[in-house]
Amino acid sequence: MIDNTALLQALLSQDQIKMANAQFLSIAPAPMPVDWDFDRVEGMLLGLAVGDALGYPTEAVLPNVRFQRHGEIRDYLPSPHAGYRQVGVCSDDTQMTFWTLQNLLADGGLLPEHVAEEFTRHTIFGIGSTVRDFIWAYKNEGKTWVQAGQPSAGNGTVMRIAPVLIPHLRKPTAALWADAALAGMITHNDPAANACCVAFIHLLWECLRRKDIPEPMWWLDTFTEAARSLEGRTEYASRIPGNSYRGPLWKFVDQEVRQAITENPSSLEACERWHSGAYLLETMPCVLYILARYGHDPEEAVVRAVNDTKDNDTVAAIVGAAVGALHGKAGLPPRWIEGLLGRTGTDDDGRVFELIDQARRVFWEDG
Ligand SMILES: [Mg+2]
Repeated sequence: MIDNTALLQALLSQDQIKMANAQFLSIAPAPMPVDWDFDRVEGMLLGLAVGDALGYPTEAVLPNVRFQRHGEIRDYLPSPHAGYRQVGVCSDDTQMTFWTLQNLLADGGLLPEHVAEEFTRHTIFGIGSTVRDFIWAYKNEGKTWVQAGQPSAGNGTVMRIAPVLIPHLRKPTAALWADAALAGMITHNDPAANACCVAFIHLLWECLRRKDIPEPMWWLDTFTEAARSLEGRTEYASRIPGNSYRGPLWKFVDQEVRQAITENPSSLEACERWHSGAYLLETMPCVLYILARYGHDPEEAVVRAVNDTKDNDTVAAIVGAAVGALHGKAGLPPRWIEGLLGRTGTDDDGRVFELIDQARRVFWEDG
């Protein structure tokens, strides 16, 4: 079992990873219950892939325009990448998630240099500007995996971080947090992005363990309890016109989502208020509010993310991972799983399902 704790500590002491060295990083996560089933991890990974596939055809379209064109999207749209069949195809969210899982399987844990190399080897669909800049820095400027991560608070790491927890299911230690931070920094080396990766892994871990449906405020409290100490002293500005907020991401998210949960606007109204683009100050409030409002109903949570946000494939991938972890594969609509091609590229149908089966064998049954 690879333990990246010392590597993280070395990078923190040299200020090579942008994140605060908080006590949270030394506390081991609680173990899974004795009767726990890997179906939860299947749900997490399939929820992510399904959310991405439902959102991808209308990525970056504003919700009201999308509604005029398609009505409410509850199923896959005809895909030009699959002969216009109504099936689920992948974009960057699914691709980078499952390439990470593939490397975890090959290496028996996280070797960040291998994951970095993997990200630069393929065509990425719907690629974000930060990942493009990372690939340029890695391939053309000769930067190492430690140096090539960009100073960006985009959502491109939270969307792909989920699989790093899988090698830790059997014997959870604080090395889980090191893997979340190191896997994140490969592309986005930024305090808010890194803190969000660790905090989202904490949230996913607690979803996997839970046997009941949490209260709305639990989603926000669980995210914030990890993010607040890890982000450090930062100054992010809101990009919402007329909003003068400056400060840490966790605090903005905490204020905004806490108020929204109290006032209870529709998710469309709330996500429009925060914009719902790829900037983490937009993505994270939308994710946490949708989870607070619809965490009990995985289908509706993903449908709201797909329809009510702008960067909808990524918001739906993140929301899908969380509700999938809480409800398991059995909690996701079967039609979404049946219609998912399971690709990580243009024609490798079924690859996603294959990798999930391998992960079950390697990290759970034989782990
Ligand atoms: Mg995408």
